[in-house]
Amino acid sequence: MKNCLICNKNPADKTGSHIIPHFLLKRIDNEDGSTKRDKEMGFLLSEFHPSSYFGRATKPETLEKVYGEEVTEERIANNKIPLVEDNIFCSDCEKRLGEIESQYSETIKHKCKPNNNYQNLEDSFLAFIFWTSIVWRLSIAQKSGFKLNISDEERLQMILSQFLSIKNYDLDDLKKGGILENITYKALRSIDYSDGKSTVLFCHPDIQNPYFFVIDEFILTFSIEKSISQTGFESIDDEFSNCEINSAFSGEFIRSVEPKIIDGIQEYFYSELSKRYLLNLSKEIDIIHQRLGGRGLLSMSIKEEIAKRIINDDEQPSGVKYTLKHKARIIFEVLKKYGG
Ligand SMILES: [Zn+2]
Repeated sequence: MKNCLICNKNPADKTGSHIIPHFLLKRIDNEDGSTKRDKEMGFLLSEFHPSSYFGRATKPETLEKVYGEEVTEERIANNKIPLVEDNIFCSDCEKRLGEIESQYSETIKHKCKPNNNYQNLEDSFLAFIFWTSIVWRLSIAQKSGFKLNISDEERLQMILSQFLSIKNYDLDDLKKGGILENITYKALRSIDYSDGKSTVLFCHPDIQNPYFFVIDEFILTFSIEKSISQTGFESIDDEFSNCEINSAFSGEFIRSVEPKIIDGIQEYFYSELSKRYLLNLSKEIDIIHQRLGGRGLLSMSIKEEIAKRIINDDEQPSGVKYTLKHKARIIFEVLKKYGG
Protein backbone atom coordinates (compact mmCIF):
# COMPACT_ATOMS: atom_id res chain seq x y z
CA MET A 1 0.00 0.00 0.00
CA LYS A 2 1.28 3.46 -0.82
CA ASN A 3 1.95 6.01 1.89
CA CYS A 4 -0.49 8.73 2.85
CA LEU A 5 -0.07 11.71 0.54
CA ILE A 6 -0.28 14.15 3.47
CA CYS A 7 2.08 12.76 6.13
CA ASN A 8 4.02 10.44 3.78
CA LYS A 9 4.62 8.16 6.79
CA ASN A 10 1.59 5.95 7.42
CA PRO A 11 0.02 3.59 4.88
CA ALA A 12 -2.85 5.22 2.99
CA ASP A 13 -5.44 2.88 4.48
CA LYS A 14 -8.45 5.16 4.35
CA THR A 15 -11.17 4.59 1.75
CA GLY A 16 -13.86 7.03 0.64
CA SER A 17 -11.84 10.20 1.20
CA HIS A 18 -13.61 13.33 0.06
CA ILE A 19 -11.66 15.82 -2.02
CA ILE A 20 -14.28 18.46 -1.26
CA PRO A 21 -15.58 18.28 2.31
CA HIS A 22 -18.93 16.58 2.50
CA PHE A 23 -20.69 19.59 4.01
CA LEU A 24 -19.95 21.58 0.84
CA LEU A 25 -20.26 18.77 -1.68
CA LYS A 26 -23.69 17.73 -0.49
CA ARG A 27 -24.86 21.26 -1.18
CA ILE A 28 -23.47 21.03 -4.70
CA ASP A 29 -24.99 17.71 -5.65
CA ASN A 30 -27.45 16.94 -2.94
CA GLU A 31 -30.64 15.12 -3.78
CA ASP A 32 -31.84 14.48 -0.24
CA GLY A 33 -35.59 14.88 -0.25
CA SER A 34 -35.39 17.40 -3.03
CA THR A 35 -38.15 17.48 -5.57
CA LYS A 36 -36.45 20.11 -7.68
CA ARG A 37 -34.60 18.26 -10.36
CA ASP A 38 -32.12 21.02 -11.07
CA LYS A 39 -30.94 21.06 -7.49
CA GLU A 40 -29.42 17.68 -7.64
CA MET A 41 -26.84 18.17 -10.33
CA GLY A 42 -23.14 18.54 -9.73
CA PHE A 43 -20.69 19.30 -12.47
CA LEU A 44 -17.05 19.67 -12.96
CA LEU A 45 -15.76 21.31 -16.09
CA SER A 46 -12.15 20.41 -16.59
CA GLU A 47 -9.40 20.98 -19.06
CA PHE A 48 -8.05 17.43 -18.91
CA HIS A 49 -11.31 15.54 -18.91
CA PRO A 50 -13.64 17.90 -20.67
CA SER A 51 -16.35 15.29 -20.98
CA SER A 52 -16.43 14.47 -17.28
CA TYR A 53 -19.40 16.40 -16.03
CA PHE A 54 -20.76 14.60 -13.06
CA GLY A 55 -22.94 14.68 -10.03
CA ARG A 56 -21.59 12.53 -7.29
CA ALA A 57 -24.83 11.84 -5.44
CA THR A 58 -27.02 12.54 -8.40
CA LYS A 59 -29.91 10.43 -9.58
CA PRO A 60 -28.93 8.07 -12.40
CA GLU A 61 -31.33 9.67 -14.85
CA THR A 62 -29.78 13.05 -14.22
CA LEU A 63 -26.34 11.61 -14.79
CA GLU A 64 -27.54 9.89 -17.93
CA LYS A 65 -28.75 13.15 -19.33
CA VAL A 66 -25.41 14.73 -18.68
CA TYR A 67 -23.18 11.86 -19.74
CA GLY A 68 -25.27 10.85 -22.72
CA GLU A 69 -25.05 7.23 -21.63
CA GLU A 70 -26.25 5.01 -18.86
CA VAL A 71 -24.38 5.26 -15.59
CA THR A 72 -24.50 1.83 -14.04
CA GLU A 73 -24.18 0.71 -10.43
CA GLU A 74 -20.89 -0.84 -11.45
CA ARG A 75 -19.54 2.47 -12.57
CA ILE A 76 -20.50 4.09 -9.30
CA ALA A 77 -19.11 1.16 -7.31
CA ASN A 78 -15.85 1.36 -9.22
CA ASN A 79 -15.43 4.90 -7.99
CA LYS A 80 -15.27 6.27 -11.50
CA ILE A 81 -17.18 9.27 -10.32
CA PRO A 82 -14.45 11.57 -9.10
CA LEU A 83 -13.90 13.52 -5.93
CA VAL A 84 -14.18 10.54 -3.63
CA GLU A 85 -10.98 8.51 -3.61
CA ASP A 86 -9.56 5.46 -1.87
CA ASN A 87 -6.08 4.96 -0.43
CA ILE A 88 -4.77 8.47 -0.69
CA PHE A 89 -4.73 9.30 3.06
CA CYS A 90 -4.08 7.47 6.31
CA SER A 91 -6.78 7.29 8.95
CA ASP A 92 -4.91 9.78 11.16
CA CYS A 93 -4.71 12.48 8.52
CA GLU A 94 -8.28 11.84 7.41
CA LYS A 95 -9.39 12.33 11.00
CA ARG A 96 -7.44 15.58 11.29
CA LEU A 97 -8.97 16.87 8.06
CA GLY A 98 -12.38 15.92 9.44
CA GLU A 99 -11.82 17.95 12.60
CA ILE A 100 -10.82 21.05 10.66
CA GLU A 101 -13.83 20.65 8.36
CA SER A 102 -16.29 20.17 11.16
CA GLN A 103 -15.05 23.32 12.91
CA TYR A 104 -15.12 25.35 9.72
CA SER A 105 -18.55 24.04 8.74
CA GLU A 106 -20.01 25.89 11.75
CA THR A 107 -19.31 29.17 9.96
CA ILE A 108 -21.76 28.32 7.18
CA LYS A 109 -24.48 29.63 9.51
CA HIS A 110 -23.17 33.19 9.29
CA LYS A 111 -25.42 35.68 7.54
CA CYS A 112 -24.48 39.03 6.03
CA LYS A 113 -26.23 41.37 3.60
CA PRO A 114 -24.75 41.49 0.09
CA ASN A 115 -22.07 44.09 -0.67
CA ASN A 116 -20.60 43.89 2.80
CA ASN A 117 -17.52 42.19 4.19
CA TYR A 118 -17.88 40.13 7.33
CA GLN A 119 -15.45 38.41 9.62
CA ASN A 120 -16.20 34.76 9.13
CA LEU A 121 -13.71 33.39 11.59
CA GLU A 122 -11.43 34.93 14.20
CA ASP A 123 -9.17 31.91 13.98
CA SER A 124 -7.47 32.83 10.73
CA PHE A 125 -5.14 29.86 10.92
CA LEU A 126 -8.00 27.36 11.00
CA ALA A 127 -9.64 29.03 8.00
CA PHE A 128 -6.32 29.13 6.18
CA ILE A 129 -5.64 25.42 6.75
CA PHE A 130 -9.20 24.59 5.69
CA TRP A 131 -8.93 26.31 2.29
CA THR A 132 -5.32 25.19 1.82
CA SER A 133 -6.43 21.59 2.27
CA ILE A 134 -9.17 21.98 -0.34
CA VAL A 135 -6.91 23.63 -2.92
CA TRP A 136 -4.25 20.98 -2.41
CA ARG A 137 -6.76 18.09 -2.49
CA LEU A 138 -8.20 19.37 -5.77
CA SER A 139 -4.68 19.34 -7.17
CA ILE A 140 -3.88 15.76 -6.11
CA ALA A 141 -7.33 14.45 -7.11
CA GLN A 142 -7.24 12.25 -10.16
CA LYS A 143 -10.18 13.81 -11.91
CA SER A 144 -10.66 17.32 -10.67
CA GLY A 145 -9.13 18.74 -13.84
CA PHE A 146 -7.18 21.16 -11.68
CA LYS A 147 -3.45 21.12 -11.00
CA LEU A 148 -1.26 23.43 -8.95
CA ASN A 149 2.21 23.92 -10.32
CA ILE A 150 4.55 21.36 -8.78
CA SER A 151 6.40 23.58 -6.33
CA ASP A 152 3.10 25.04 -5.08
CA GLU A 153 1.66 21.57 -4.62
CA GLU A 154 4.73 20.44 -2.67
CA ARG A 155 4.62 23.50 -0.47
CA LEU A 156 0.96 23.04 0.44
CA GLN A 157 1.61 19.36 1.22
CA MET A 158 4.44 20.38 3.58
CA ILE A 159 2.14 22.87 5.27
CA LEU A 160 -0.56 20.26 5.77
CA SER A 161 1.84 17.62 7.07
CA GLN A 162 3.25 20.09 9.58
CA PHE A 163 0.24 22.06 10.65
CA LEU A 164 -2.91 20.02 10.13
CA SER A 165 -3.07 18.84 13.71
CA ILE A 166 -1.65 21.87 15.42
CA LYS A 167 -3.88 23.15 18.18
CA ASN A 168 -2.96 25.71 20.81
CA TYR A 169 -0.61 27.67 18.63
CA ASP A 170 1.03 31.03 18.87
CA LEU A 171 0.78 33.09 15.68
CA ASP A 172 4.31 34.41 16.19
CA ASP A 173 5.58 30.83 16.37
CA LEU A 174 3.79 29.98 13.15
CA LYS A 175 5.49 32.88 11.41
CA LYS A 176 8.91 31.38 12.07
CA GLY A 177 10.30 29.45 9.13
CA GLY A 178 8.28 31.41 6.64
CA ILE A 179 6.52 28.50 5.00
CA LEU A 180 3.15 30.16 5.62
CA GLU A 181 4.27 33.58 4.40
CA ASN A 182 3.02 35.04 1.13
CA ILE A 183 0.13 32.67 0.72
CA THR A 184 -3.08 34.65 0.50
CA TYR A 185 -6.65 34.18 -0.57
CA LYS A 186 -9.84 36.11 -1.09
CA ALA A 187 -13.34 34.74 -0.71
CA LEU A 188 -16.75 35.82 -1.97
CA ARG A 189 -19.94 34.16 -0.88
CA SER A 190 -23.53 34.45 -2.01
CA ILE A 191 -25.15 33.47 1.25
CA ASP A 192 -28.00 30.94 0.95
CA TYR A 193 -27.58 30.71 -2.84
CA SER A 194 -27.63 26.92 -2.45
CA ASP A 195 -31.07 27.03 -0.83
CA GLY A 196 -32.85 27.83 -4.04
CA LYS A 197 -30.46 27.11 -6.86
CA SER A 198 -28.10 24.49 -8.09
CA THR A 199 -24.43 25.15 -7.49
CA VAL A 200 -21.24 24.08 -9.18
CA LEU A 201 -17.70 23.10 -8.50
CA PHE A 202 -15.54 24.80 -11.04
CA CYS A 203 -11.76 25.05 -11.09
CA HIS A 204 -10.45 27.25 -13.83
CA PRO A 205 -7.59 25.41 -15.54
CA ASP A 206 -6.12 28.45 -17.27
CA ILE A 207 -6.10 30.98 -14.46
CA GLN A 208 -3.07 30.38 -12.23
CA ASN A 209 -2.38 33.76 -10.73
CA PRO A 210 -4.42 33.64 -8.69
CA TYR A 211 -5.76 30.11 -8.76
CA PHE A 212 -9.52 30.43 -9.16
CA PHE A 213 -12.37 28.27 -7.88
CA VAL A 214 -16.13 28.28 -7.63
CA ILE A 215 -17.22 25.88 -4.91
CA ASP A 216 -20.89 25.83 -4.02
CA GLU A 217 -21.79 29.40 -3.04
CA PHE A 218 -18.14 30.42 -2.57
CA ILE A 219 -15.84 32.00 -5.11
CA LEU A 220 -12.22 31.78 -4.10
CA THR A 221 -8.90 33.04 -5.36
CA PHE A 222 -5.76 31.55 -3.90
CA SER A 223 -2.31 32.95 -4.44
CA ILE A 224 1.13 31.57 -3.57
CA GLU A 225 4.16 33.89 -3.55
CA LYS A 226 2.47 36.30 -5.92
CA SER A 227 0.38 39.36 -5.45
CA ILE A 228 -3.20 38.59 -6.35
CA SER A 229 -4.06 39.83 -9.81
CA GLN A 230 -7.30 39.65 -11.74
CA THR A 231 -9.32 36.61 -12.76
CA GLY A 232 -10.54 38.24 -15.96
CA PHE A 233 -14.21 37.94 -14.97
CA GLU A 234 -15.16 41.57 -14.68
CA SER A 235 -18.04 41.34 -12.21
CA ILE A 236 -16.03 39.06 -9.97
CA ASP A 237 -12.90 41.18 -10.12
CA ASP A 238 -14.97 44.21 -9.05
CA GLU A 239 -16.12 42.33 -5.97
CA PHE A 240 -12.64 41.00 -5.25
CA SER A 241 -11.26 44.54 -5.37
CA ASN A 242 -13.52 45.32 -2.39
CA CYS A 243 -12.49 42.20 -0.59
CA GLU A 244 -9.96 41.80 2.18
CA ILE A 245 -6.85 39.71 1.69
CA ASN A 246 -6.75 36.73 4.01
CA SER A 247 -3.66 34.86 5.16
CA ALA A 248 -2.78 32.43 7.92
CA PHE A 249 -2.28 35.42 10.23
CA SER A 250 -4.94 37.96 9.45
CA GLY A 251 -8.44 36.82 10.21
CA GLU A 252 -10.85 35.46 7.70
CA PHE A 253 -13.02 38.07 6.05
CA ILE A 254 -15.49 37.14 3.36
CA ARG A 255 -17.37 39.47 1.04
CA SER A 256 -21.07 38.78 0.80
CA VAL A 257 -22.23 39.17 -2.81
CA GLU A 258 -25.53 39.22 -4.70
CA PRO A 259 -26.72 35.93 -6.22
CA LYS A 260 -26.24 37.43 -9.70
CA ILE A 261 -22.47 37.17 -9.23
CA ILE A 262 -22.73 33.38 -9.03
CA ASP A 263 -25.39 33.39 -11.79
CA GLY A 264 -22.88 35.13 -14.06
CA ILE A 265 -20.11 32.62 -13.54
CA GLN A 266 -22.56 29.74 -13.95
CA GLU A 267 -23.80 31.18 -17.23
CA TYR A 268 -20.24 31.17 -18.50
CA PHE A 269 -19.90 27.62 -17.23
CA TYR A 270 -23.04 26.33 -18.91
CA SER A 271 -22.20 28.02 -22.17
CA GLU A 272 -18.80 26.26 -22.15
CA LEU A 273 -20.58 23.02 -21.32
CA SER A 274 -23.01 23.29 -24.22
CA LYS A 275 -20.21 24.24 -26.63
CA ARG A 276 -18.34 21.11 -25.64
CA TYR A 277 -21.50 19.01 -25.83
CA LEU A 278 -22.19 20.20 -29.38
CA LEU A 279 -18.57 19.68 -30.37
CA ASN A 280 -18.69 16.07 -29.16
CA LEU A 281 -22.03 15.54 -30.84
CA SER A 282 -20.62 16.81 -34.11
CA LYS A 283 -17.72 14.32 -33.90
CA GLU A 284 -20.08 11.45 -33.09
CA ILE A 285 -22.31 12.26 -36.04
CA ASP A 286 -19.33 12.17 -38.40
CA ILE A 287 -18.22 8.80 -37.02
CA ILE A 288 -21.69 7.31 -37.55
CA HIS A 289 -21.89 8.87 -41.00
CA GLN A 290 -18.54 7.30 -41.96
CA ARG A 291 -19.43 3.89 -40.50
CA LEU A 292 -22.54 3.91 -42.65
CA GLY A 293 -20.31 4.29 -45.68
CA GLY A 294 -20.44 8.06 -45.98
CA ARG A 295 -17.35 10.00 -46.93
CA GLY A 296 -15.72 12.93 -45.16
CA LEU A 297 -17.63 15.12 -42.74
CA LEU A 298 -21.33 15.80 -42.81
CA SER A 299 -22.50 19.30 -43.62
CA MET A 300 -23.08 21.74 -40.77
CA SER A 301 -26.73 22.21 -41.72
CA ILE A 302 -27.47 18.49 -41.17
CA LYS A 303 -25.59 18.53 -37.87
CA GLU A 304 -27.54 21.57 -36.78
CA GLU A 305 -30.80 19.85 -37.62
CA ILE A 306 -29.78 16.85 -35.49
CA ALA A 307 -28.76 19.05 -32.56
CA LYS A 308 -32.01 21.04 -32.75
CA ARG A 309 -34.12 17.90 -32.85
CA ILE A 310 -32.33 16.46 -29.81
CA ILE A 311 -32.64 19.68 -27.83
CA ASN A 312 -36.27 20.35 -28.81
CA ASP A 313 -37.49 16.78 -28.35
CA ASP A 314 -39.71 17.64 -25.38
CA GLU A 315 -41.71 14.43 -25.59
CA GLN A 316 -38.80 12.51 -24.10
CA PRO A 317 -38.83 11.99 -20.35
CA SER A 318 -35.97 13.84 -18.69
CA GLY A 319 -34.13 10.59 -18.03
CA VAL A 320 -34.12 9.61 -21.69
CA LYS A 321 -33.41 12.89 -23.38
CA TYR A 322 -29.76 13.28 -24.38
CA THR A 323 -28.98 9.61 -23.73
CA LEU A 324 -26.95 7.65 -26.22
CA LYS A 325 -30.10 5.83 -27.39
CA HIS A 326 -31.99 9.07 -27.84
CA LYS A 327 -29.12 10.67 -29.67
CA ALA A 328 -28.60 7.60 -31.87
CA ARG A 329 -32.28 7.40 -32.84
CA ILE A 330 -32.41 11.02 -33.94
CA ILE A 331 -29.10 10.82 -35.80
CA PHE A 332 -30.37 7.78 -37.75
CA GLU A 333 -33.73 9.41 -38.49
CA VAL A 334 -32.10 12.53 -39.89
CA LEU A 335 -29.43 10.65 -41.85
CA LYS A 336 -32.10 8.39 -43.32
CA LYS A 337 -34.06 11.43 -44.41
CA TYR A 338 -31.04 12.64 -46.37
CA GLY A 339 -30.43 9.17 -47.80
CA GLY A 340 -27.46 8.41 -45.55
ZN1 LIG B 1 -1.24 10.56 6.92
